[in-house]
Amino acid sequence: MEEIKNFINGEFQNSSSGEYIDNINPATGELIGKIASSNSIDVQNAVEAANMAFTSWSALTLEQRIIWLDKIADALEAKKELVAQTESKDTGKPISLARRVDASRSISNFRFFAQFTSQQNPMEFEMEDAMNYVHRKPVGVVGLITPWNLPLYLLTWKIAPALVMGNTIIAKPSELTPLTANLFASILQDIDFPKGVFNIVHGLGPSAGQPILEHPKIKAISFTGGTQTGRIVAKTAAPLFKKLSLELGGKNATVILADADLHAAAKGAARAGFTNSGQVCLCGSRILVDASIAQQFTELFLTEVRGMKQGNPLNEATEIGSLISIQHLEKVESYVKLAKQEGGTILTGGNRPTISGLEGSKGAYLEPTVIGGLDINSRTATEEIFGPVVTLHIFENEEQAIEMTNSTEYGLAGSVWTTNLERGRKFSEQIETGIMWVNTWLHRDLRTPFGGVKNSGVGREGGQWSLSFFSEMTNICVKLD
Ligand code: NDP
Repeated sequence: MEEIKNFINGEFQNSSSGEYIDNINPATGELIGKIASSNSIDVQNAVEAANMAFTSWSALTLEQRIIWLDKIADALEAKKELVAQTESKDTGKPISLARRVDASRSISNFRFFAQFTSQQNPMEFEMEDAMNYVHRKPVGVVGLITPWNLPLYLLTWKIAPALVMGNTIIAKPSELTPLTANLFASILQDIDFPKGVFNIVHGLGPSAGQPILEHPKIKAISFTGGTQTGRIVAKTAAPLFKKLSLELGGKNATVILADADLHAAAKGAARAGFTNSGQVCLCGSRILVDASIAQQFTELFLTEVRGMKQGNPLNEATEIGSLISIQHLEKVESYVKLAKQEGGTILTGGNRPTISGLEGSKGAYLEPTVIGGLDINSRTATEEIFGPVVTLHIFENEEQAIEMTNSTEYGLAGSVWTTNLERGRKFSEQIETGIMWVNTWLHRDLRTPFGGVKNSGVGREGGQWSLSFFSEMTNICVKLD
């Protein structure tokens, strides 16, 4: 059984308490490992290591740090299949998805920030009698706190820009998915990455995460997770004037306008609704359809959803795996129950399926579920479920579609489907959200701003926004002779 230890100052170490948390494979219910359960003493040790390492890491030139990012990308690439297999085992996601999305993107996060940073021009502002030079400095020791749905993908999305700008890191992955962060640490050891620059403290949010928020020497917190936890993060870190980036929950709409290519829209809506069992913050969990095409779209959409292959995540053909845990499955099921109480009709799914080859095991599976007949303002249609459950709603005109799309407390992402690209763009401009896609979903250019409005977060990640978050800027104004 694998024992996952903290990674502090380049060494794997037991937690100071000596306590462990079980790590379960959610696709089978099997115990696969034990994770160090850390507390403020471990965070203190990690901060000391990160603080010591800061002097030499921040003194490297940008070019030297870029070389390190490329080295890390090469080393991850060499272990790409192992990363995918490990992520699939820890999360219950299909191996094909773990390869295509998690492992690939973890590598490209390093490649992207290496290249993007090398292309930045110095910021200079000329006046008649003076010259302004903007000098970027690292922030210092930074805390990275990440969720379980895209474990290494989201962690490396923060690690790469933090490192390249000269910061040192304390990371706390979700205790549900510690394996790929641990693998990443062993990869850093293999390439003799400088000790103390990257540290991991494993464990539960309140005991291992909270001390990161509170520690005075940790100067910035980049957090991705639920809105409720985001509130705790903001409440703790804001009075300490830490830099804060909050990437929080979502309840995103997929809007099908009357002139959409319905076959493409049905495929797109199914992908947006059920990728990673609906456990992506960007998933389109409320589908809004123009009344004139509602029946035709619904038939096509249900055919798509019923055709998705749910199964053992390790089978190459599997498109939908398990949820992250039995506890989360029960939460998602409570929403299916609530939907019925709220007057909804289950159009497909709603049950725990039997998974071929895993009969009798305790996997956390739920069929892809589509619910119709609910009020757009019902709890099921407005609260984040974060599972394979989507609701279908009908609108009469575009104004109503905009109003319905904006009628949640969240504002992370959304997509609109139309054959009129200008109409799609105008529609998108009226949506209260950080990201809109026209005729596509999860189509990412890493240079673009990523983040949410309303209860979906504060700040942006990606390209220059990540570089700015992980640096402090000093404007130097030089009076010319
Ligand atoms: P949580 O908010 O429960 O946890 C996120 C991280 O915060 C975990 O590492 C968790 O640790 C930690 N944490 C919990 N309490 C504290 C605390 N008091 N102090 C410091 N850290 C703490 O989110 P989930 O892991 O359940 O992830 C799902 C959520 O993430 C969804 O709401 C989803 O929308 C959101 N998300 C947002 C994204 C975005 O880019 N906007 C992307 C992906 C997901 P532990 O797990 O050990 O409790």
